[in-house]
Amino acid sequence: MKQRTLAIVKPDGVSRNLVGTVLSRLEAEGLRIVAMKMIRMTKDQAKGFYKIHEGKPFFESVTDFMSSGPCVVLVLEGEDAIQRYRTLMGATDYTKAEEGTIRRAFATDIEKNVVHGSDSKETARFEIGYFFNALEVMG
Ligand code: GDP
Repeated sequence: MKQRTLAIVKPDGVSRNLVGTVLSRLEAEGLRIVAMKMIRMTKDQAKGFYKIHEGKPFFESVTDFMSSGPCVVLVLEGEDAIQRYRTLMGATDYTKAEEGTIRRAFATDIEKNVVHGSDSKETARFEIGYFFNALEVMG
């Protein structure tokens, strides 16, 4: 089934000049970029994005990190895009991520793990709408 998913190159990925590397990997995987922009979230915007994690021990830290510098946010489209992009990213904890994944190759920390990707159809819908309006996503 054709799906859309929300991808982010996180502030560590942008500051380490990994935007092109991440984009070329997902394009090579056959995922199509249908929306893209660079943004810098405020702390409150980062809290809204990660509201599902409110109350967890890492909530303050991850929202500080996500608002610490610019991110590149993208909408990706393709067959089974949500799971395919999750597989390409690798596990949250990069030490447990498979060889060949983006996080295994580039993450430096459980938090500074370079990329984000939606984990379900419901979160994809919420996350795409959090950053993009209908006119900004190519049909
Ligand atoms: P993801 O879907 O693989 O990004 O993982 P989660 O939704 O569980 O967590 C969201 C983000 O919070 C992760 O990508 C990390 O940046 C951060 N994070 C997750 N778990 C931890 C943790 O135990 N400690 C810290 N400091 N950050 C974490």
